[in-house]
Parts: sequence; structure tokens; C-alpha cells
Amino acid sequence: MYKCDMCPAVFKMKWNLARHVNTHNGLRYSCTVCEKKYTDNSNLNKHMKNVHDINLNLYFTHPRHILFSPLH
Ligand SMILES: [Zn+2]
Ligand SMILES: [Zn+2]
Repeated sequence: MYKCDMCPAVFKMKWNLARHVNTHNGLRYSCTVCEKKYTDNSNLNKHMKNVHDINLNLYFTHPRHILFSPLH
């Protein structure tokens, strides 16, 4: 289990914790096409599907790609 240092939240997956910590830091998942920003990658996934017709399944199997992509 991975525990957040900033609140009582606990996560089974390390990358889920990393994603959560980003919300404390005010970081965002940004769309690689139009750079619209979201706090949650499921919202970003919906955006990319609806707006750009891009399927992010590839990104879900490689969450680090999103976590460490350049932020604007
Ligand atoms: Zn937290
Ligand atoms: Zn976009």
C-alpha cells in the first residue's frame, strides 16, 4: 500500500498515488493535442476521445508517459 504524505489517502498502485499527489501539487494532465488540462486522466481520456477522436488505451498501459510528460 502507498500512503499519501499530504492526506490520509492510501493507494494499492504506486502510480495511482503519484497521480493523486499531482492533484495536491496543482499539476494537471494536459492534452497532447490542444494542451487543455485536466486533474484526472479519465477526464483527459474522455476529452481526447470526444474532441480529437484519439483512444488513450495505450496511455493507460503506460501511465508514466502521462505522469512525466511535459506540463505547460
Ligand atoms: Zn493526498
Ligand atoms: Zn485536446
